[in-house]
Amino acid sequence: MSLLINDECIACDACREECPTVAIEEGDPIYVIDPDRCTECVGDYDEPACIAVCPVDCFVLDKDNVETIAELKFKYAQIQKEER
Ligand code: SF4
Ligand code: SF4
Repeated sequence: MSLLINDECIACDACREECPTVAIEEGDPIYVIDPDRCTECVGDYDEPACIAVCPVDCFVLDKDNVETIAELKFKYAQIQKEER
């Protein structure tokens, strides 16, 4: 499942560079996550790197983008291929 950033975001930029799949972008007024690129950090870390650095705890699960671990791993593999 992709993550979503809710409107508590203070646009501090702490999360963007931590995302291993470059899924987070600066938005106006809050940052946004591309659901096609968020793997919940499956393949890179045990836990979402963005959640670990966010000072206001504004990440929530995106219920419109529910995926299994197998699907997240597939997405991760596709993103790796793109980057080659
Ligand atoms: Fe990026 Fe991982 Fe956060 Fe998804 S959970 S936005 S892949 S840092
Ligand atoms: Fe927004 Fe949290 Fe990312 Fe900062 S770390 S830009 S508050 S989502």
